[in-house]
Amino acid sequence: MVSRRNWMTSVAALPAAAQAQPAVKPKNIVISSSNGVECCNIAMSWLRAGKDTLDAVIAGVNVNELDPNDNSVGYGGLPNEEGIVELDACVMHGPTRRAGSVASIRGIKTPSKIARLVMEETDHIMLAGEGALRFAKTMGYAEENLLTEKSRLAFLVWKRTMKDSNWSDGVDAPPGKSPKALLRLFPEADEQTLAWAHEMAVRPPTGTINCLALNEKGEMSGCTTTSGLAWKIPGRVGDSPIIGAGLYVDQEVGAAGSTGRGEENIRVAGAHTIVENMRHGMSPPDAVMDALKRVSRNYDNDLKRLDKFDINFYALRKDGVFAGGSLWNGQFRGAGFVSRKFAVNDGTGNSRLLDCAYLHERPRP
Ligand code: ASP
Repeated sequence: MVSRRNWMTSVAALPAAAQAQPAVKPKNIVISSSNGVECCNIAMSWLRAGKDTLDAVIAGVNVNELDPNDNSVGYGGLPNEEGIVELDACVMHGPTRRAGSVASIRGIKTPSKIARLVMEETDHIMLAGEGALRFAKTMGYAEENLLTEKSRLAFLVWKRTMKDSNWSDGVDAPPGKSPKALLRLFPEADEQTLAWAHEMAVRPPTGTINCLALNEKGEMSGCTTTSGLAWKIPGRVGDSPIIGAGLYVDQEVGAAGSTGRGEENIRVAGAHTIVENMRHGMSPPDAVMDALKRVSRNYDNDLKRLDKFDINFYALRKDGVFAGGSLWNGQFRGAGFVSRKFAVNDGTGNSRLLDCAYLHERPRP
């Protein structure tokens, strides 16, 4: 059972902004996952310029999609188990109540833009794999190599660290499990990059950007885009492109999105659940916490099993009240502890990172 203490802790941990009373009049506001500080800045500048909320969120997430150093989204994202980058993305436009999505698309740096084209130019909502790429090409996009040198190195390190006998510890293949051995195997790479690549191999990261926006007219849109789980089986689709899981927007109620282990989110239809919770009167923080409890309940609240993953939800109500919440309060890294955050830009300046509310406290390793 979720202990009362945890529940109380979570509520106490809610950022002040999320506890604020509903605003009387809608205002420009953008929220995103913690990697979206710049994304929220850009999206806010588009809202201030009077652009549509969907234009704003797509312009925002494009920053991450095109950033070779964001290895969880778009160009530079970590590849699948065959070394090929496969991306998932979806968009929802509140005013027209329309949605578009692409799954397992290869070779396109900005899948959010293709998801939007699916929404605007076709009679479908979701295109996957080869068909999604062909559609993107038809719409004038060039196929590109999405692997950077850094993500290619991480892939090779993963191959050699993860006991893949085709690549390491074979009769002829070089041994290569420890960071030290990696230094010998990749003499051209610096120590810091190799340490990062080793960490990515040992703990396959998830990562994504979800961005939700509200403007002064009360219009809302959202976008979620990702390279998904690193080293996944080719064709694996996470929650990010699934309308109702990675993203849901209802112009009458609000919007919600998710990052983290997609399999858990799909099982609770997280974004839709949160929007429905808000429709039935829950505050955004309560709506998010309820979705997290559903995830936890799927493992009978067994903290040992839940410890293997994390998941985050974000909610923005039509009146501007918002919340970010995580299954865990954060994670121990080295000697320190990194708490879970989400990004907000309320139009008063640069985006800020706020602490997520959380359901469980990570035990010390
Ligand atoms: N939700 C994404 C997926 O499962 C990954 C993530 O957000 O970390 O594909």
